[in-house]
Amino acid sequence: MTTESRLHHPDYFPLWRESQDTLIRTRLGGFYYLLAWLLTWGFSSTPLAILPLGIGATLFFTLMLIARRSHRLGAQETTADLQRWIDRHWGLILLTALGWGLAHAWALYRPEFAPSRLIATLSTIAFSTAMAFSFSMRKLRCTTAILLLYVPGLLVLALDHQQQQAELVTLALYFSYLLLALNRSHQEYHTTIALEQELVEQRERYDQLSRTDSLTQLGNRHQFNNLFPTLVAVARRQHTPLSLVLIDIDFFKRINDEFGHSSGDLCLQAFAERMREVFRRDSDALLRLGGEEFGVLMPDTLPNQARVLAERFRSELLASGFSLNERNLPLTASLGVGSFDPQRDDSPEAFFKRVDNALYQAKAEGRDRIVLADFA
Ligand code: GH3
Ligand code: MG
Ligand code: MG
Repeated sequence: MTTESRLHHPDYFPLWRESQDTLIRTRLGGFYYLLAWLLTWGFSSTPLAILPLGIGATLFFTLMLIARRSHRLGAQETTADLQRWIDRHWGLILLTALGWGLAHAWALYRPEFAPSRLIATLSTIAFSTAMAFSFSMRKLRCTTAILLLYVPGLLVLALDHQQQQAELVTLALYFSYLLLALNRSHQEYHTTIALEQELVEQRERYDQLSRTDSLTQLGNRHQFNNLFPTLVAVARRQHTPLSLVLIDIDFFKRINDEFGHSSGDLCLQAFAERMREVFRRDSDALLRLGGEEFGVLMPDTLPNQARVLAERFRSELLASGFSLNERNLPLTASLGVGSFDPQRDDSPEAFFKRVDNALYQAKAEGRDRIVLADFA
């Protein structure tokens, strides 16, 4: 299955979009955590005196940055693969959030960070705001990440609430705003995804319509024009057989003249149904090429197999005809049958022409018969 066709699957699309969005949004995040720590550490009163802590935390945020960036989204095959990628990536996001939450708490707790505690607090506000807006696809996980960013710092402030009351209250208020913003952002995200999915499905429906003949529900000429050269190319490259059956109803004009155009239409629908009953392989492409002309493209089908099926179709049609308004109406068809031959057919058009000539010969020889192009 191609990614394109998987995207039309209702379970696949939302996960695919979510993983793409997560990937794009995670890129910047990791870098700013590292930068915020370097500033907090660098502007502390004694950066050199706390060298082990400074280097340890720098290593941690660098590692998180590398892990987030190198956690690539490959050509994910299934919804389970995507789900696994998203889960693992959230693991990294939550771990980074916890790391920063602890760094912020430490900066609030230790006196040597007094000059840079504002940097740490502002960074916490910035990270949690970015989290609420960028990672709102998962509400519970995002809330957890915001809590991890926020709570350690709040706890330290609460320890000394007499002194830090203003800061504590402000941060707590902002925290409640973030939860509201996350809620709204989460809803908006999923509404957008649902709309996009509807668009994808609608496009698929229109594509299907543009490839289908509305009267018979067989593939139409447009579909044939796309499919035929592709199947010929595959047959040529892989040295596999490809057979083509062209069918034209005999004296169809008389049916219209005698029974009316709408009866003619019913007849064409019934004819298509007969085709489906005989040419049943999933790989067979059944097409209405125009008016009362039809085609069957049969990949991996040898000339003899195609001939047997074409003959069966012709003889069953002759034997049973169609019943229309309780009248039985005899109906026959002429068929040209051929298989692609790279020695003789230097293009798809040449192959088509050869089979079309066989059909023409079947008409000329008296109709209700098949002519094999391979012997013509
Ligand atoms: P032949 O055996 O030589 O093929 O004779 P024919 O009458 O089948 O062939 P001809 O090409 O002379 O006429 C084809 C007829 O098919 C004429 C046209 O009115 C009819 N036809 C084409 N498309 C439709 C359609 O969608 N509905 C109906 N009811 N008739 C159609
Ligand atoms: Mg005809
Ligand atoms: Mg015709």
